[in-house]
Amino acid sequence: MIIRNVTVVDGTGGAPLSDMEVVVSEGRFTAIRPTTGEGPSIDGLGGYLVPGLWEGHTHLAGAHTRAVPENERVQRMSRLLSDYLAAGITSVVDLGGSLDVALEIRGYRQTASDPAATLFFAGRLFTGVKGWPVLDDTERAAIAFQVDDPGHAHQQALALADQVDFIKCVYDGEPGAPDKLSFDALRAIVAAGHEKGKKVLVHVHRSRDVEEAVAAGADGIEHAFLPQDTGSTQEAVDIAALLVESNTYYCPTLVTWEQIGRNGDASYLDELAKDGILTAADIPRIANSAWYGRPFPRHPAQESRIRLDYAMRTLGLMHEAGVKIAAGSDIAILMPSAPIALLRELQLLAKAGLPLPAVLAAGTRYVAEKIGQGAHAGTIRPGAVADALLLSADPCADLTHLISPAHRVWTLRGGRLL
Ligand SMILES: [Zn+2]
Repeated sequence: MIIRNVTVVDGTGGAPLSDMEVVVSEGRFTAIRPTTGEGPSIDGLGGYLVPGLWEGHTHLAGAHTRAVPENERVQRMSRLLSDYLAAGITSVVDLGGSLDVALEIRGYRQTASDPAATLFFAGRLFTGVKGWPVLDDTERAAIAFQVDDPGHAHQQALALADQVDFIKCVYDGEPGAPDKLSFDALRAIVAAGHEKGKKVLVHVHRSRDVEEAVAAGADGIEHAFLPQDTGSTQEAVDIAALLVESNTYYCPTLVTWEQIGRNGDASYLDELAKDGILTAADIPRIANSAWYGRPFPRHPAQESRIRLDYAMRTLGLMHEAGVKIAAGSDIAILMPSAPIALLRELQLLAKAGLPLPAVLAAGTRYVAEKIGQGAHAGTIRPGAVADALLLSADPCADLTHLISPAHRVWTLRGGRLL
């Protein structure tokens, strides 16, 4: 298949290439070249071809699937992957949950005929004893290994790595407390992941956790850190230098801190409506939902606002310093649907001052790279999985062109035109 008459924004950060033709064969891009005019083709209508979007941090077992009966869960989460695809998101990265459910979804998707986003998952995550997100909830015990011994964790991680796409650790809590992974355990889990060729992503709280996660060999940092001194940008400068030097990806999940920090604040919903994330009809529905105005476990609202505000002030300089920022939303408690949370995250990255080509890279290649899929996906390059969006207008001129369905002409999913 040849797609002709398009400008290619390939996701690598290079300049847009106009009047190109893109060759797709067996589900992959095989050539991107100036128009030859030879052979039958699909007319790209002078539009912009960009890689399909990636949700870089979510949990399919989230706010929008919690109330679903257990025997319908796999089907429902699979349908959620179709909803992601309908929003232009062709790949979804699940940062931890039940391994059995993740494997069942993958199995179900292998025979399902309706198109859906590709799922990548961590399965069971690693945390301390009664650590976040298990705490005292025995029902949540299945989603995590609660580690008290580095050697045992190393064995568990070696066994898990064969079944999952990457490994996730939660490194959160007071140093030395049993609910926090020890540094030695974190290092042992990272080593096990790397022995198996898998990336290891680490959830952090404070900037010190970032430093220790990098020292342990983490490939990616999840969540904007809580700064010690909000009055100075120096901490961000130092963390940026560390992330660049160690080639560690940074996924700030701004929309999580925004939702927790501003939950119950009516002006927040108005702002979301103004930004096109909600419709007027969504507002009363969200304001009457179970999560509205309720504190989020473990993460105080005020602290979440500090994390958001500091990240909004410093992500621009971190990007300038060369940090590879990946887009992921995590929770979607106040969003009308889970996929929209990623679109809000992309908006927030732009509001934080990232240039639009960097926002596009955050929502495509940097997510693929942080989980070790960068060589095969996340860009429009020969050999990459043929997931792409045809947009009617330039996504580097206005973010709306990327995230609004009104500008999406069609979606290419694994080489299939939808
Ligand atoms: Zn998460």
